[in-house]
Amino acid sequence: MTTEYLEDLDLSTEAGKNGIERAGEIIRRGGLVVFPTETVFGLGGNALDPEAATKIYRAKERPSDNPLIIHIADPSEASLYTETSDLFERLSKRFMPGPLTVVLPAKPIIPKTVTAGLPTVAVRCPSHPIAHALIACAGVPIAAPSANLSGSPSPTTFRHVREDLDGRVDMILGGECEIGVESTIVRLDSSDTLTLLRPGGITPEQLGEFARVELSDAVLNKLKEGETVQSPGMKYKHYAPKTPLYLLRGGREDRQRFLAGQGGRFAVLAYTEEIPSLSVHPSSPVVFDLGSENDPAQQLHRLFYLLREADKSGCERIYAALPSTAGLSLALYNRMIRAAAYQIVSVN
Ligand code: AMP
Ligand code: MG
Repeated sequence: MTTEYLEDLDLSTEAGKNGIERAGEIIRRGGLVVFPTETVFGLGGNALDPEAATKIYRAKERPSDNPLIIHIADPSEASLYTETSDLFERLSKRFMPGPLTVVLPAKPIIPKTVTAGLPTVAVRCPSHPIAHALIACAGVPIAAPSANLSGSPSPTTFRHVREDLDGRVDMILGGECEIGVESTIVRLDSSDTLTLLRPGGITPEQLGEFARVELSDAVLNKLKEGETVQSPGMKYKHYAPKTPLYLLRGGREDRQRFLAGQGGRFAVLAYTEEIPSLSVHPSSPVVFDLGSENDPAQQLHRLFYLLREADKSGCERIYAALPSTAGLSLALYNRMIRAAAYQIVSVN
């Protein structure tokens, strides 16, 4: 199929408004539109149309047992498609619109192809103005996984979307993804307990103001063979560059000593503060600036972009520091251990 592009969409102009109108029309007709959100780009289709969901799985070559998140224009619409609760109301008041996805019991109007046969459905209300305008204009909830081919890092730029999905979708809208990794996903277990299924831009510490927060095993650990998983996406090797990534456990000096002993052509996703020492390295590694060591938001924003760029650098391997699991860094840790296929090297 021919893909239409609207890279520089300005919602304040007539051309921008017309673009959103056309995109909304494509969604209503059962077509696919890629759009920016504050997390990553989404590959959207009408969440009430089982055929559209099937097209989404096909376009990104996603296993059909991995359910889709439905995106709504306003948190009040959640009750049209799910059984909401008091805890949902409190969370949505604080975190929606924004990068929080809540898993709730699905109403029958939601097709089984969207939920992959589960009795629940994941709901999110994005804050990105283009995502919001598109959902409102389409007039239906939009089912949208990340707009990458299954297995590769989620795209955070128009160019990276194009590399994966050119010719596989009807339209691609451009824009900025402020956060750079997918949403935080929670399941509500009772009126005062929730389980964190996937960490993201909303931290467990923030959620802890509203409920007791339990961490799903899959957030920090590799699942054992045959283990059942609460969030099906967590069982797949995810976010991975094709080049092997190794995470270094240890302090900055240990890391530097380890890297100084490395030969061949390798890349480093380095903290900004470490770059001067790497630039005098005898093997001249390809160095990517992951962001300041004390700025996990900046690191999250760059991670998926840099994993894709590092893959194109022609290196044999990629090194990065193993992040901490506190606050926003938990999302980095979760994505990076998967991208590294759990290969952690102790360097201290
Ligand atoms: P993506 O849209 O690519 O960010 O992936 C969506 C994620 O949401 C996957 O990891 C799914 O496993 C998860 N998810 C979607 N629906 C549900 C659900 N009903 N219960 C648990 N996890 C879900
Ligand atoms: Mg994804």
